[in-house]
Amino acid sequence: MSGELIRRTLGEVLAFIGLTDSVGQPLAFALHDFRRMLITDAVRTGLPPHIAQAIAGHADINTTMGHHAVYPAETIEVHRAFISRRRALRPAEEYRTPTDAEWEDFLGHFERRELSVGTCARAYGTTCIHEHACVRCSLLRPDPAQRARLAEVRDNLIARIAEAETEGWLGEVDGLQVSLAGAGEAPSA
Ligand code: SF4
Repeated sequence: MSGELIRRTLGEVLAFIGLTDSVGQPLAFALHDFRRMLITDAVRTGLPPHIAQAIAGHADINTTMGHHAVYPAETIEVHRAFISRRRALRPAEEYRTPTDAEWEDFLGHFERRELSVGTCARAYGTTCIHEHACVRCSLLRPDPAQRARLAEVRDNLIARIAEAETEGWLGEVDGLQVSLAGAGEAPSA
């Protein structure tokens, strides 16, 4: 169905029903109104605003907040209610105060994610599943300050690919090409 067909059909249905607005004028819907209604309904019934933002595809949560027809205070109340419901469903153990050792481990996680060419974005409590092949890993967040180092890695990969091709080590070429593509996505010097 085209947008035009939906718009026209909606107009015909509204005219048939005879619904009017607060000043007695026939109601008219734009397709965009349905986004507003969806977001309003979802947030009012407990969907966290940042999830509504992801569903709506908004880059900024303020755009989402502008779309839903409720006040921010109401949003906060609804979100708190959502958190309370979630806590009631989850094991109480998840919400106890962490021990000093656990807290230190949590803080240490962020230090252990520092890499020579950027930061690893893997979640807390997870280990590296990519054998520390960071340059080819989608979880690497390259550090712009390390451009020179990344350029060095890239040049080294190009040289290794050329050597592998010359020597006939074709089994290595594919893997090196993947790493090269990863290095190529990093900011250039
Ligand atoms: S390979 Fe990926 S997951 Fe592993 S340390 Fe590097 S960036 Fe993190």
